[in-house]
Amino acid sequence: MDLLKNKVAVVTGGTRGIGYAIVKTYLDNGARVVLCGSKQETADKAVEKLKAENPDYEVEGIAPDLSSYDSVEAAIKSVAEKYGRVDIIANNAGISSSTPLYDYKPEDFDKLMNLNVNACFYTARAAAPIMKENGGGVIINTSSMVSIYGQPAGVAYPTSKFAVNGMTKSLARELAKDNIRVNAVAPGVTNTDMVSALPEATRQRICSAIPMGRMGEPEDIANAFLYLASDLASYVTGVVLSVDGCARA
Ligand code: NAD
Repeated sequence: MDLLKNKVAVVTGGTRGIGYAIVKTYLDNGARVVLCGSKQETADKAVEKLKAENPDYEVEGIAPDLSSYDSVEAAIKSVAEKYGRVDIIANNAGISSSTPLYDYKPEDFDKLMNLNVNACFYTARAAAPIMKENGGGVIINTSSMVSIYGQPAGVAYPTSKFAVNGMTKSLARELAKDNIRVNAVAPGVTNTDMVSALPEATRQRICSAIPMGRMGEPEDIANAFLYLASDLASYVTGVVLSVDGCARA
């Protein structure tokens, strides 16, 4: 399929897990992709792996500091200068938490919110004027099923994802006039490093309640990112699309 032919996409957290699957799915659909890693070295390794799979992929790796607006703005501007446009922002980078409230350090709360929420604002703030200038674009944020149910510990994580939903719905309304669609994907339990880091008992408790009887695979989530980025979703904005096997927490 060539659903994203000639599109330029920036994917944060593109080095592994769901982000890597989004990058690959976008490349397989004709996009040119700039993937962001937390370190240049890991970004380069992801690019190397992708190029080994398909030397024709147009992909490069960068490592902006997602906790700094200046760094994010400089990165987005340099993508626009190099490729002439930025059509798609996939805000995927994120960290989770299962720390009980009584042990929670305030600085850890801030760190999680900075990445999971502020970085989405930073990319949108930097990319939207460029998209507007080019006639439109698409921003896709990563929410979570915990933005519907909450979770029994690690309060910063569900808090961040509720915030992502609010940002998504609000920016969708604000930016519709500029032909910029803003949506979110809310994955359920997905088979990545983030989930393998959870205590086994938590994994089992969550998975046993999933009506479809399995975890999601990164590709299940990437396909939703593809749909929302493509013209198939040209009238879809302000949506938080659950991709969770109909999960119940
Ligand atoms: P992962 O831990 O496998 O990957 C996270 C990505 O974020 C990595 O590429 C990592 O480099 C990047 N990242 C982490 N900290 C960073 C930082 N400080 N600066 C820049 N990049 C950083 O996680 P995943 O499971 O692929 O999760 C991706 C997204 O999906 C996250 O937003 C997560 O909240 C969301 N999500 C995951 C699940 C799940 O079950 N795996 C469920 C719901 C939502």
